Amino acid sequence: MEVDIVVIGGGPAGLAAALSAYEKGITDVVIIERDFELGGILPQCIHDGFGNFIFGEMLTGPEYAQRYIDGVEKTDIHVKLNTMVLDIDSEKRITAVNPEDGLIQMEAKAIILAMGCRERTRAQILIPGDRPSGIYTAGVAQRYINMEGLMPGKKVVILGSGDVGLIMARRFTLEGADVEGVYEILRHPGGLTRNVVQCLQDYNIPLHLSHTIINIKGKKRVEGVTVAKVDSQWKPIKGTERVIPCDTVILSVGLIPENELSQKAHVQIDSRTSGPVVDECMETSIPGIFACGNVVHVHDLVDDVSEAADTAGKGAADYVTGKREKRTIPITVTNGRNVAYVVPQTIGGKKVDDVTFYLRVKRIEKNVKVVGSSNGKEIYTKKERIVKPPEMVKIHLSSDELRNIKNELLIEVNP
Ligand SMILES: Cc1cc2nc3c(=O)[nH]c(=O)nc-3n(C[C@H](O)[C@H](O)[C@H](O)COP(=O)(O)OP(=O)(O)OC[C@H]3O[C@@H](n4cnc5c(N)ncnc54)[C@H](O)[C@@H]3O)c2cc1C
Repeated sequence: MEVDIVVIGGGPAGLAAALSAYEKGITDVVIIERDFELGGILPQCIHDGFGNFIFGEMLTGPEYAQRYIDGVEKTDIHVKLNTMVLDIDSEKRITAVNPEDGLIQMEAKAIILAMGCRERTRAQILIPGDRPSGIYTAGVAQRYINMEGLMPGKKVVILGSGDVGLIMARRFTLEGADVEGVYEILRHPGGLTRNVVQCLQDYNIPLHLSHTIINIKGKKRVEGVTVAKVDSQWKPIKGTERVIPCDTVILSVGLIPENELSQKAHVQIDSRTSGPVVDECMETSIPGIFACGNVVHVHDLVDDVSEAADTAGKGAADYVTGKREKRTIPITVTNGRNVAYVVPQTIGGKKVDDVTFYLRVKRIEKNVKVVGSSNGKEIYTKKERIVKPPEMVKIHLSSDELRNIKNELLIEVNP
């Protein structure tokens, strides 16, 4: 099967990318999704908080996804559900499998990677103790409660204060469970301030910063955990241990971009984001392979995912029609003071429109300036009252500002 554009993943990123490529005139587009329905993680996110920027409304996850699904249904974009992509290569050959067609092979002119991310598990953070049932990642517990109608437990301890964990603290409480507390190893919450307020403080659920679980006890089912305070090196402090009886442990200890397929195609991965290195069109290091959404870096807000996916879709359409002229050597975007990462990492086009850069800081700082400079010359500056690692910072550089860049754009956060 030969296709102009194949989109891998039918979550918000894949849907928005497919639609924008279609609107740019590429009608031969296929979305491949392994689940039985479109929408990615959104069908299980029944709380509101989606779409504030794009639609100016606070939508639930399913409502937000439905707007894009309706958009796709009005086009002749071909959707293959229950279909798992097993392999891609740098020649843009795709191998997938589903129960109806068996093994499927496709050759695409362009591929858009939109596989999202997955949750870190107990095995990745090495919590000592027994291995009873009753330990779930927050996303799995969310799926059980919101989609399968199953209640995972009654007395819950949550490890990690990522957004999914915070949302699940509220969800368990609303469903009648007792959430003893949320324990976070860092000195600051891992999730958005709005979720700390709306999901913990509004429900009197305690957040214990600089704490972790040092033991899980239970024969068949979890019977309790031991928590302890940690020092600045994250080592448990002797004498601060506390045993908490509970039947359920929920882990919200980070998300990892899902890049096994990207690696098979030898796409360059940025060790800071764990996602592909992309340019301003969301094109990876392999020409014609684009990426967007949580597969590139973990986003806080779905609106930003849709925005970047729109760019990827347009970029892929221009690639297929051969409209884009590239620089021989791309401009490198480098991370300066208090910058953990910046996306996009390069600027590859000869003629560049305005570009939105997404960055995360390493530590909390107040009253700072986000500065973009090239060859020692400041070309962009934006004041921020406060910057925090969990809250992504967005900066827009105009095509005029970008024209002043020579070979490198340095982005830093200065006092
Ligand atoms: C619990 C939770 C709560 C959230 N709350 C909010 C909120 O309140 N407000 C907000 O704005 N954002 C929120 N977000 C963030 C937002 O949902 C994500 O940023 C967004 O869903 C990412 O979109 P995506 O398309 O990149 O990934 P996903 O939604 O994860 O979609 C990826 C898709 O790719 C498919 N896929 C993966 N690999 C393959 C393969 N090999 N073959 C075929 N298909 C594949 C998956 O099945 C999935 O459908 C929340 C996220 C979570 C997890």
